[in-house]
Amino acid sequence: MRETPADAEIPSHQLMLRAGLIRKLAAGVYNYLPLGLKVLRKFENIVRAEMNLAGAQEVLLPTLAPASLWRQTGRWEAYGPELMRITDRHKREFALGPTHEEVITDLVRREVKSYRQFPLTLYQIQTKFRDEIRPRFGVMRGREFGMKDAYSFHTNQDDLDKTYWEMYEVYSNIFKRCGLKFQAVEAESGPIGGSSSHEFMVLAGNGEDLILACPKCHYAANREKTPVGYLKPASQEQLPLTKVATPGQRTIAEVSAFLKVQPSAMIKTLLYQGDGQTVAALIRGDRTLNETKLKNHLKVSTLVLANETTVREVTGAETGYAGPFNLGKTPIVADLSLAGRDNLVSGANENNFHYQNVNAGRDFRVEAYVDLANAEENDPCPKCEGTLSEMRGIEVGHIFKLGTKYSAALNATFLDEKGEAKPIIMGCYGIGTGRTIAAAIEQNHDENGIIWPLPIAPYQVVLTSLDPKYPEVNKASERIYRELILKNVDVIWDERDERPGVKFKDADLLGIPIRINIGKRKLREGKVEIRLRHDQSCFELSPIEVISRVQELIQTLSP
Ligand SMILES: [Zn+2]
Repeated sequence: MRETPADAEIPSHQLMLRAGLIRKLAAGVYNYLPLGLKVLRKFENIVRAEMNLAGAQEVLLPTLAPASLWRQTGRWEAYGPELMRITDRHKREFALGPTHEEVITDLVRREVKSYRQFPLTLYQIQTKFRDEIRPRFGVMRGREFGMKDAYSFHTNQDDLDKTYWEMYEVYSNIFKRCGLKFQAVEAESGPIGGSSSHEFMVLAGNGEDLILACPKCHYAANREKTPVGYLKPASQEQLPLTKVATPGQRTIAEVSAFLKVQPSAMIKTLLYQGDGQTVAALIRGDRTLNETKLKNHLKVSTLVLANETTVREVTGAETGYAGPFNLGKTPIVADLSLAGRDNLVSGANENNFHYQNVNAGRDFRVEAYVDLANAEENDPCPKCEGTLSEMRGIEVGHIFKLGTKYSAALNATFLDEKGEAKPIIMGCYGIGTGRTIAAAIEQNHDENGIIWPLPIAPYQVVLTSLDPKYPEVNKASERIYRELILKNVDVIWDERDERPGVKFKDADLLGIPIRINIGKRKLREGKVEIRLRHDQSCFELSPIEVISRVQELIQTLSP
């Protein structure tokens, strides 16, 4: 495609369409074209090789999973509308698998009985389904997508821990082998459940996840998992509460400028509805609130900011003048940033008024001080004396310790040394295959197109004949092409009857790492040209040297 498609919002989606890797069939459903499939298969083969090396065994489970199995774990209801469901002609219900814990646990409970048969790790590379409410970003967030999912089975927790960290290594090796910059982070377990989990992020400037990492101790976590610590403030003498007029001043920035106080000396009062119940959340004016942290603290499943009407009902004032006073039954939780701080500024629950010298305990009651703030760049590291830096990433892998969540629900047991039945202990480990490819493009592209890391490039080399109608050019090109193939170099030969400019533009768009240009004029001087996509470096050499030089370059460009 010459033009950027209008409905493609992010570079990877635009470039996958423009370079002819994928085509859309329906919302969130894509065809892989030959070049796209080559990339996908190369990535899958790296995943397969590393999984096999770690002793995991490949299986292939069906996409159709009987509803009865999903009902046994409670997920038929709990998964909600994202679970794709179908009913067959006999009115039997099935799920189109978004993940396979139920199916694999059912398989293992039937086949594996004795403690002697553990541990066991099984994986598959397969198509999954999820009825995304708003599929977007191409294969990054589709409704039908490729995944490698692995499940491990154990007789005790120590054994699970061992496999969990082995898989952590396997995942690190996979992304290293692909030539991708990545970061493993501590993560929330989400709807799959379990006690401990890590996400693997491919780093990219416009990635949707915000990560905080400490360069000193290698701590890294998602923003919602990063605790924020504060120095204990020196206590001040509490001054009398004073009401001040602040006409038309609503935001922290406005009030801060108007009253000449720092945002860090102000209270932001936010009203939320958690499962329909109103709660007031207080945070220091210079920090922002993380809704996942608040949601976890309140143990609610839905959390939304209260609307204007509720704010007026609860506080008696418009948004912008809310304060923690006389809120009746509305509970107040406060961020740790406010603990021990005296003489602050807050809204007065009256339009166009604020209070100065507000003090918790004396002027209002806080139910709990908890960590509710978004961690930010330069915050102290929670594990050492270092400071955190911010980076963005795209989640491509996730590993979990499941424990007995699924085996208990499905009665999957083994017999221990004494012949007693015990629930099997499980772990699970996923990588989005199509998603990783899209993330690789997000990380590696420029204004001209994709810049593939060599291990997952559709071809290692593109051989461009500049004047293919001349027999000497054609002959030299074909000889080099055949020799490269004999040396197992993955090469595509562009012998189209097109102008050199068109071919160069296409080669840059496709992002093949090594380009060999063969033209009439240079060939008569006994020279061909090699050009590298990643740094546009370019050099000439004789046709005889090309093969060994390309082999060297492949070595250098492989991580
Ligand atoms: Zn640290």
